[in-house]
Amino acid sequence: MGVPSRKCLGEELAWQYANLARATAALTDGVKEFSAVHHQIRMKLYKGLSSGTMQLGSFFADEKYKIGMNACCYCGSVDDLSVDHLIPRKKLGTDLSENLIAACRSCNSSKRERDMLSWLRARDIFPSLVLLRRYLKLVYLFCQSHELLMAPWEEALMLELPFDLANLKDNLQPLYHLECLNLEYPVQLVRGITQSDSSQGYI
Ligand SMILES: [Zn+2]
Repeated sequence: MGVPSRKCLGEELAWQYANLARATAALTDGVKEFSAVHHQIRMKLYKGLSSGTMQLGSFFADEKYKIGMNACCYCGSVDDLSVDHLIPRKKLGTDLSENLIAACRSCNSSKRERDMLSWLRARDIFPSLVLLRRYLKLVYLFCQSHELLMAPWEEALMLELPFDLANLKDNLQPLYHLECLNLEYPVQLVRGITQSDSSQGYI
C-alpha cells in the first residue's frame, strides 16, 4: 500500500495523524511491526480526514492519560511540576484544557515560547504518541479554524504560525522505538530517518 502524495496542508496533517493512528493500533496490539490491518487503518483514516467524511478523535479520548498524571510530559520528572501551554500563550495558545499539560519547571522554563517539536528535537527527545497526537490535533484545529487546510503545503510552510509545520513532515520514528502510549521516560530521537521510510515500519 503506497504512500499518497499530499499537496495541501490538510492532506499532510491528515497523513501525519493517520500515521499516529497506525502506530497506536500496532502498539495496542503489542507488536513491533505493522500488519496489513494497521496499514488499512492508516489509509482509511487518511482518506476519511482528507475528504471530510471523518473527524479527528476528540480530546476527551486523550484526557484519560492526563488525569492523575503526576509526571512531566516531556522528561518524566515528578519533581517541581507546573502547567505548560503546548502552544504558548504568546502564540495564541489558549488556557483551555487541551492546550495544558503537566511539565516540570525545568522543561517549562527551557521551552518557553518555542514550538514543542522544535524544542524537543533540539534535546534529541521524541514525544509520546499521546502528546504528539494532542499537539497535532491543536495544529489541525488551528489550521481548520483559520481556513488554512486547503493551502498548498509549500505555501503553508512560509506562513507565520504558532507552530513549526516543517517538523511534522520530518518527524517519523521507528515503531520499535516507541515503547508505549504514555511514556514515562523520554525517548531519544533517532535522526536521519526520511519520509520514504514511512511505508516500511515507521509511524
Ligand atoms: Zn520535564
